Amino acid sequence: MAVSLKTPCTQEQMSGKICWLNGFAEDHIPTELQDDILICKDCPTFKETINRAFGRRTADQTLGRTIARLLMLVSERTYRLQETSIELKSKVEELALIKTITEAVVKTTDIHKALKIILTGVTSGRAFGFNRAGIFLVDERHEYLLGKHAVGPKNKQEALEIWNRLTATSLNQQIENILDESPVETDYLHKRVEKIKIPLTDEANIFIRALAEENPRIFRKGLIPSELENTIRAYFDFNEFVIIPLKAEGPSLGLLVADNYYSGQPITESTIDALYTLAVACTTLLENTLLHSQLSLRLKELEQVNRLLRENQNYLIRTERLADIGKLATTVAHEFRTPLVTIGGFARRMLRTIKPGNSGGRELKIIASEVDRLEMITGELLEYSRQVKLDLKPRNLNDLVRHSLDLMEGQLTSGGIKLKTKFSRDNIYSRLDDRRFSQVIFNIVGNAIEAMNRGGMLTVSTRLDNDFVILEISDNGCGIDVDDKSQLFNLFFTTKSRGSGLGLPISKKIVEDHGGYIKLESSAGEGACFSLFFPRFIETKENAAE
Ligand code: ADP
Repeated sequence: MAVSLKTPCTQEQMSGKICWLNGFAEDHIPTELQDDILICKDCPTFKETINRAFGRRTADQTLGRTIARLLMLVSERTYRLQETSIELKSKVEELALIKTITEAVVKTTDIHKALKIILTGVTSGRAFGFNRAGIFLVDERHEYLLGKHAVGPKNKQEALEIWNRLTATSLNQQIENILDESPVETDYLHKRVEKIKIPLTDEANIFIRALAEENPRIFRKGLIPSELENTIRAYFDFNEFVIIPLKAEGPSLGLLVADNYYSGQPITESTIDALYTLAVACTTLLENTLLHSQLSLRLKELEQVNRLLRENQNYLIRTERLADIGKLATTVAHEFRTPLVTIGGFARRMLRTIKPGNSGGRELKIIASEVDRLEMITGELLEYSRQVKLDLKPRNLNDLVRHSLDLMEGQLTSGGIKLKTKFSRDNIYSRLDDRRFSQVIFNIVGNAIEAMNRGGMLTVSTRLDNDFVILEISDNGCGIDVDDKSQLFNLFFTTKSRGSGLGLPISKKIVEDHGGYIKLESSAGEGACFSLFFPRFIETKENAAE
């Protein structure tokens, strides 16, 4: 019987759909539920028709069948919807897991941590739940596929232990733990996998072949040629495993391999799909992390080259300056020394012969002392510019310092300076040139005496610090201005009216020639402390004879 509305349905007009009564042609039983068919919940015609169809056995057969079919289609659709909703729920969970993993990978620039986080996601019972997983990466020079990281127990028992231990820990906590590890902790499987190095030219190798593929592949024991099985067994025993290429834009970055060796649980299509989604999400991140670590490596290399260049440049400047100063000093020595010696000689002779009380005596004394000073400066300049060969011998720093201070006792007393010493009880030996080492002490202590022109306290101490023996000379004199501090070791820098500005640069050069360095701490009005670091000498069988 034909069922049709005599009057147009208002619902039909509003919804833009076709009323079921108009939609199904006469004697037509629908084979599927059409989306554009409208069945209003309260439609009186529908209710009436149902009543007619079900209420009376003699009711129109076609209509009855149509209704029954419709109800079946509705229940089928409900079932399909339920299925889709379960599938959607698991997809949402899967995506949440991938989000947790990728967010953690982004947090680290350490490639080992990044790989371990991914593999922990792959193997964690709280995530993808595989028994074992490993990541192989192509090396920087594109020569080898290298086993980079793996996560997996040694045997079934260890697998159970780990499983029990980790079920109480959330995936987030496991990831946090990895981020805090330093260095990254590794397990049995990792130690085996990291030894794997396959040349990219070995095209018969299934791992190398998998690199060229786009999609995941599953390998099952007995379903692959025995020679292939043997090559895999050379790395690890297996029943079935999945290989997923880590492929972004260009050639494959590497491979993700996973299996359920201990539980024997089959690897399903849906877990492969999920793992593939994870691999795709992680590949670009891994590429970035790799790039970052390669960049920081290059940066370190560059910094080192830059440091070397600067050192060389400084060395060149210094040698160049030394060469210039050397030339100047030689000229000065040549041009000035002979007349200076003559003048000095005359002045001293005249001083000896001059009668006491003669008016010229004072001037002669000044001439003689000025000539001495000029001779000393010329000598120091020559010393600074010359490439000196040190006469190094293992020396107890305490002994040499005591000896030099003894020689300065007169100067200290006449300057009204108290001396406080604190010598290390350790055996503090260094290879030192006695004469030049004393020269450094004379310069630095001499400056300290001058800085404490109204008397003061000089503190001298020695100590040991790892590879260095250290001498500290501090005073409570006038201290050093911030502006002066940076120039203090520059040649000819002086704040004294009769200073030469040679003492500190010469001292610095001598200490550096010994392989050491000088550190200065001072501020205006608060005294100064010079720390001299010399390489420590430890007696060994080889150097005992020195
Ligand atoms: P000079 O003693 O001939 O001036 P130096 O190179 O020995 O040359 O010293 C350079 C300058 O460093 C000095 O003129 C002085 O200003 C400053 N200086 C060195 N040691 C001290 C110190 N212990 N306290 C204050 N200033 C100092």
